[in-house]
Amino acid sequence: MDEQELSLARERLLEEIAAEARHTADWTGRAVLSPRVMAAMAKVPRHEFVSAPDHALAYVNRPLSIGHGQTISQPYIVAIMTDLLDINESDRVLEIGCGSGYQAAVLAEIAKDVYSVEVVPTLAEEARLRLARLNYANVHIRIGDGYAGWPDQAPFDAVIVTSAPPSIPDALVDQLKAGGRLVIPVGRAGETQTLYRCERTADGRLVRSSKLPVAFVPMVPGDTEVDKG
Ligand code: SAH
Repeated sequence: MDEQELSLARERLLEEIAAEARHTADWTGRAVLSPRVMAAMAKVPRHEFVSAPDHALAYVNRPLSIGHGQTISQPYIVAIMTDLLDINESDRVLEIGCGSGYQAAVLAEIAKDVYSVEVVPTLAEEARLRLARLNYANVHIRIGDGYAGWPDQAPFDAVIVTSAPPSIPDALVDQLKAGGRLVIPVGRAGETQTLYRCERTADGRLVRSSKLPVAFVPMVPGDTEVDKG
């Protein structure tokens, strides 16, 4: 595909995201996504985040393999999760599960800084090189266990988790500012999970509301043997 075909495919994808947002509005409460989120989806070259043979599929609204048994999420899911975070330009955002770096790039378009933790070292290193090549200087990647968050950089205005833990990890709530938002899929591996949007109150409580049934890869405990190849 040449640049013109890629940009046409990206425009069609934006229309599909907008349509899916309308169709799922009863669940998400967001019939129309923020123009800032849509502009970020229009700008980030998703084909750069998948392998060359998958370039033609990069703007189809579905998840794709990124190796190591992991996937880059469906574009609509990236868009709705980003929208639910209600990000401001001055926000510092924590992502758990950097994977290809695509979600981090979308966040980097609308936030001040993005801190992304990835447990598979090869994926973290590839994402680091890719984001540097694409000039995303405001994405910071750390290899480590996302259950611990990134304490040195806390607190965050928003936290997004792109793999599913069985319950909300305490450390991620602790690292959220008052008024901060957490968007996270929760559920057991192999079962349908629920996407939650949570907000931390001034007195430290977490108010959560369920948004959508979703299917994410499981969030692996830090001491699990993962495919580090
Ligand atoms: N956001 C990614 C998609 C991620 S798929 C993108 O845009 O491409 C989920 C990612 O979470 C995988 O890369 C997986 O290795 C990572 N992951 C799973 N468990 C984790 C944990 N405990 N800590 C950090 N990352 C984890």
